[in-house]
Amino acid sequence: MAARKRSSTAFPSEIEKQFEADTHIKRCKRLTTGLLVSAPLYNLFLLADWLLVPDVVHLAVWLHLAIVTPWMLAAALIISRRPRPFIRECLAASVPLAIILQIDVGFAFTSSPAAAHYQYVVIPTLLYTNVSLHRLQFVFARAVTALVLALHLSVVLRADYLSAPVAVTIIVQIGICAYITLVANYTMERDLRRAYLFSLRDRLRHAEADAASRRDALTGLANRFELDEELRRIWSASADLMEVPISVVMVDIDHFKRLNDQYGHSTGDLCLKRVAALLTTALRCKEDVAVRYGGEEFMLLLPGVEIMEAVRTAERVRRSIESLAIPNHNPGFSSVVTASFGVATSAPLSLSSAELIAAADQALYAAKRNGRNQVWPPFVQRMSEHSGVLTGSSRSGSSAASTGSPPNKFSSLD
Ligand code: GH3
Ligand code: MG
Ligand code: MG
Repeated sequence: MAARKRSSTAFPSEIEKQFEADTHIKRCKRLTTGLLVSAPLYNLFLLADWLLVPDVVHLAVWLHLAIVTPWMLAAALIISRRPRPFIRECLAASVPLAIILQIDVGFAFTSSPAAAHYQYVVIPTLLYTNVSLHRLQFVFARAVTALVLALHLSVVLRADYLSAPVAVTIIVQIGICAYITLVANYTMERDLRRAYLFSLRDRLRHAEADAASRRDALTGLANRFELDEELRRIWSASADLMEVPISVVMVDIDHFKRLNDQYGHSTGDLCLKRVAALLTTALRCKEDVAVRYGGEEFMLLLPGVEIMEAVRTAERVRRSIESLAIPNHNPGFSSVVTASFGVATSAPLSLSSAELIAAADQALYAAKRNGRNQVWPPFVQRMSEHSGVLTGSSRSGSSAASTGSPPNKFSSLD
């Protein structure tokens, strides 16, 4: 809102900040180039000083070469170093003011009869300020133009060697030029900002579509596409990260078909959402990913996590799912929704991502075959039972870890 007060072309402050962030470098480059190109062009005005106001040409040369041109070059240098936007625009605005001051000083001290024609160098200066090369931002263009007009008006009105009709003509012409160039400046800035808004909208839509294409619509978890990207990213990491362990936890809801059959698909959907929400609470950092792997299958991808910790995490989630107490009546098994977990851990150097997932899948298969509602491998629970930390549902079976285990490691359980 503050930005809106500053200029009628400014965006609301959040978008204005983004606009500045996106265009600052380009604007600095453009202004620097404009100043470097316009410095020699400006010095061509010396021809007008020599021909029209020869009595003050020495003063003009001194102002050109000792003040205004060095100032233009200094402004170019500072702007090329990307100062804050406000400094950048103030420096840019100072250049046409310096030029107009030089013109008006010469005009104030001359007594040349041709001085009336000297007025017209103000017109290219206004074009330079508002339309081309320099093109100030509208709010600065408006202020600089008002100052130029005021300065010039005061000099023209004091020049007793100008007849009234000539003075009026000069003022009217320069006034019209100021108005036309300001309108052009406003229109160009508005179009530029409009084009920026469209490109920003496209960028946001694209980002939104990209984010949506990576999410599962029902649960909001990452989908297989996102998982594949993540796996590719991890498995192509630098060599020193290749030895860091990665754990994969496969999760499959037990007897989910029965839940659908008993309570309907929408209840099934709700159950999937609640389990998904629980899985996200198991994530420790932004590197961890919870994925909807298939219908009622999920996966946790835990980079940097050892098998013990992964099994412990899985056990925690298993118990949490059970304590959600979502009804799923299965005589002889359970009256609430439960899930089975398969864990595998390996470093990218030892196994491909497909092999690691296959190992976790095999562990999940073992958990199912071993009675469901459990984490496989169960050795952490067993150890924890001894230490009294966990009371998980460890049942019978092998205590082999799934790290790097070939798929048939669990075939003895079938
Ligand atoms: P198990 O304990 O062996 O895993 O048995 P299960 O019934 O869970 O497994 P099964 O593969 O036989 O059935 C999975 C069911 O999940 C079948 C399918 O209709 C259901 N399903 C898959 N996707 C969705 C979904 O998005 N919403 C709902 N409500 N059901 C789904
Ligand atoms: Mg299932
Ligand atoms: Mg399944």
